[in-house]
Parts: sequence; structure tokens; C-alpha cells
Amino acid sequence: MMRKKVIIIGSGPAGLTAAIYTARANLSPIVFEGSQPGGQLTITTDVENYPGFPEGIMGPDLVDLFRKQAIRFGTDCEYKTVTKVDLSKRPFKVWVGGSIFTTEAVIISTGSTAKLLGLDSEMELMGHGVSACATCDGFFFKGKSVLVVGGGDSAMEESLFLTKFASEVQIIHRRDEFRASKIMQDRVFDNDKIQVVWNTNIKEIKGTIETGVTGVILQNTLTGEVTDLDCDGVFMAIGHNPNVSLFDEYLEKDKHGYLLTKNKSSKTNIPGVFVCGDVQDNHYKQAITAAGSGCMAAIDAERFIEAHPLA
Ligand code: NAP
Repeated sequence: MMRKKVIIIGSGPAGLTAAIYTARANLSPIVFEGSQPGGQLTITTDVENYPGFPEGIMGPDLVDLFRKQAIRFGTDCEYKTVTKVDLSKRPFKVWVGGSIFTTEAVIISTGSTAKLLGLDSEMELMGHGVSACATCDGFFFKGKSVLVVGGGDSAMEESLFLTKFASEVQIIHRRDEFRASKIMQDRVFDNDKIQVVWNTNIKEIKGTIETGVTGVILQNTLTGEVTDLDCDGVFMAIGHNPNVSLFDEYLEKDKHGYLLTKNKSSKTNIPGVFVCGDVQDNHYKQAITAAGSGCMAAIDAERFIEAHPLA
């Protein structure tokens, strides 16, 4: 069993910022990066709103910089996934494959995962024309006709990105207005390759594993009218669910399933367990707010360890 002062679970901007701060506080953190090292930034293209990069920076490059900075101060970044935790008493236990680590404090930054519509056809055709990541799969749709589902910034970003490959992009949105930021909406409306289908849901996705996606069945949310639409791909961009299952029996959540923090801090209902990033943020969900909350978690953890030393 290996003993640590701080274990950080998850490696997006929140976890890696927590690593930079706890490393600089001489706490020698270990970061278990999880199944998507670097988190959602690694499946983003241009990040234009992270301060300090006036020309923008590619998401994966930004993550690499965070990681380098964390390692420079003594962080151990491990490309491994935590499979179980015991937060019932300190020192806490963290399982990583066959190894068990104990730790004085835990910082949770496990982020969130793309939501799906919940259709059987969607699961069946995932990877065969259905995708939740345009940056990962857009390349396969050169000259094809694709749909993007959603009305937030992700749907705008994915649609704009897909115009680089697809011949046409149609956004399917369940209401008659987008919730995306004005600047992203304007870019979509200005792009000749993008059309919007308002007040519409996807009822079913057509196709087989052999043919890939061949079309969808749509339903108008106002009239109930059902129509067919041919297409070659469907990209889901309808938001995310927080990755909390490891902590189900220990940590309190809000009504949307996000981990709860106390009094504008990163503290949870268990002293010594801190959370940051998208797993506790159903509102802002930005790389910069995740990084800020990672800093908070590191400072909270450092103060906690100092005030509650373990033998
Ligand atoms: P989001 O803002 O929660 O938007 C989700 C969209 O999907 C909404 O338009 C919603 O419709 C729709 N939706 C949800 N469930 C649905 C369902 N079952 N069927 C059909 N439609 C459904 O999520 P997001 O776009 O992923 O953005 C998340 C956060 O990341 C936001 O804060 C956003 O600003 C940020 N972000 C920023 C950038 C950027 O700045 N470049 C890029 C990407 C994301 P309703 O509107 O009807 O609820």
C-alpha cells in the first residue's frame, strides 16, 4: 500500500490546476488521469476564451501545458483509472487496478461525459455514423450530410467544425431558439453550409452496422408531425452528465447529480474530500472556471492537511 498526502482523481483543467498548486505546496500529489487523460479539452479544437492565449490555443496543447507545469513542481501524473474508493475514514483508500493507495486528502475532478438521447438505435449505431465528438469523428464525413443535435455552445462548435468536412450540416433543435452564446450563434447563422431545423426531436435513427446511418425519423415538438430525413451521420451535442458513480455511497449530490460543495468552497460532506471542475459545476462549465475551482480545491486541501495531521 502506497501512502500519499494528496490524490487527485481526474486530469482536466481542474485536476491539473489542483496538481500545480498542491505540488507547489510540497504535497507531492499523484494524479490518476482516468480514461480520458486531459478531459474534454482534448476533444476540442480551438480554445479562444482561455486568458493568456490571444491567438487561441488547441485544446490538447493547452492540456499538455497544464501537465508540464504540474510535473515541473513534482506532480506524478499516472495514465491510470481509479476503480474504487473508500472515503469512510482517513486515511482514505484509492484502488487503481490491483494497487491500493492511502491518502490524507482526495481531490475529485472526474468531469462529465456526453449525454445521449437514450434511443436503442443510437447505441447500436454509435461508431457507425452516430458520434458524440465531432473533433474525433468529423474527418470520416468528408462530402457527407450530417445532423447535429442540440442548441448550446457545443452544438454550435460541433456544427462549425463539421462544415470543414461535410457537404451540409443540419442542426436539430427541440426549441425555437438556441441557448448558445451570441457569438457562436452568429457564426452558425452566417455559415451557408449550416441549416437549422427548429422545434424538432429525433425519434429514431435509421441504418445498420453494415450500412451505417442512412437517415432519421423526426418529430415536430409543436405539431407532432413525423417526417423522414436522409443523412449519413448524427452528432449528439446535448450536454453532459457528471462522472460521480465512484462516489455514490459517500458524497452528497444536487438534484441534477452534480457533487455538492459547501459554502462557496470545494469542501464536500466528508472532511478531507474536495471537488472541483465539471463534476460539481452544472452552471459555468468552462475550462477557466474549472481551473479556478482546481486552485480552490488545492488550497482547501493544503489547509485541511495542515490543520488535521495524521500520524
Ligand atoms: P448545454 O449548454 O447544456 O446545451 C445542451 C443543449 O442540448 C440545449 O440546447 C438543450 O436544449 C439540448 N438538449 C438537452 N437534452 C436534450 C434532449 N434529450 N433532446 C434534445 N435536445 C436536448 O450543453 P453544451 O452545449 O454541451 O455546453 C455546456 C457548457 O459548455 C456551456 O456552459 C457552454 O457555454 C460551454 N461550452 C462553451 C464553448 C465555447 O465557449 N466555445 C464550447 C462548448 C461548450 P434546450 O436548450 O431546449 O434545453
